[in-house]
Amino acid sequence: ANPDTLDIFKALDAAATFFQRQLATSERARAYLDQRGVGEAVRAQFAIGYAPDGFSALKDALGTDARRMNLLERAGLFSKNDRGHVYDKFRDRVMFPIHDRRGRVIAFGGRVLAAPADGRDAGPKYLNSPETALFHKGRELYGLWQVRQANPRIERLVVVEGYMDVVALFEHGVTVAVATLGTATTPDHAELLFRNAPDVYFCFDGDRAGRNAAWKAVESVLPRMRDGRQGFFLFLPEGEDPDSIVRKEGAEGFEARLREATPLSRFFFDTLSDGIALSTLDGKARLAERAKPLLAQIPDGAFGDLMQQRLTELTGVGARQAAPEPSAPIRRQ
Ligand code: ATP
Ligand code: MN
Ligand code: MN
Ligand code: MN
Repeated sequence: ANPDTLDIFKALDAAATFFQRQLATSERARAYLDQRGVGEAVRAQFAIGYAPDGFSALKDALGTDARRMNLLERAGLFSKNDRGHVYDKFRDRVMFPIHDRRGRVIAFGGRVLAAPADGRDAGPKYLNSPETALFHKGRELYGLWQVRQANPRIERLVVVEGYMDVVALFEHGVTVAVATLGTATTPDHAELLFRNAPDVYFCFDGDRAGRNAAWKAVESVLPRMRDGRQGFFLFLPEGEDPDSIVRKEGAEGFEARLREATPLSRFFFDTLSDGIALSTLDGKARLAERAKPLLAQIPDGAFGDLMQQRLTELTGVGARQAAPEPSAPIRRQ
């Protein structure tokens, strides 16, 4: 590999170690994780750290050599003001390193601890590293490295929305959770998920954003639905997320919800039929019109055939034979 790339990995690893050491010395940051129920073992497993308040903590600790400083800048750990002054991007945040599939740190997510007492604006709740040569958020899943470390064979993956959801599920022994990084599920994510497990559960927050995210996941998953793969959808009650649910109901409660998850096929037809009167010819035609372009994306196989058959049951509209090619051009007079 490019020698620069190897050095960026080293610099990111040094930054992760720095943040972990800062967590060890910050009572406030540790109290925050305690209060959120993140124990020592999971902190270590995820290499969770803390970026201290102030504009040059990381810079002072690691910027002593100009080349390493330059690499960390390229890795997205610093911001630059309009006068060209470079300062720490992550300040007073709990730091979640994002690992690639070989366990190397490629980026960070940082969560604000709490609103500062002096009324300063702490910025957005979560801040991620920018896209860099090493980090493309549409292709990475937070927690996948830890899932792979924890399970010799992965039977299923549970996709959740946030870092804290993944961490809370691990804390309760549900070691199959991964999160997209503040983006919709992309087709690359879908492929990565199914390459790692035959069954994928999409679990979204019980809010409007969660519902919209679920349909985006459907669109990304359909072209990847080769035979042997199954997708499920799980919606949590309004105002809940996997973190809050597993705290309230424990692993058993969460597992019970997984068992009742909606299969992709049902979620697909329920969503597309929403607001349509299927007792009318017109409603059936509308469902067929909505479903066809999506069903056309499913790879050849039993799943696609059965989905087509289901559409036929619901609407009476079968797969129509393509119109025969006219043998000679038809001229209009
Ligand atoms: P909390 O720590 O409060 O429990 P959460 O993980 O439940 O947070 P949500 O607000 O439900 O967070 O958002 C889900 C995920 O979306 C976050 O984990 C993060 O990856 C991403 N996200 C949320 N807010 C932002 C933001 N302001 N900027 C970037 N990404 C964000
Ligand atoms: Mn939400
Ligand atoms: Mn939450
Ligand atoms: Mn949430």
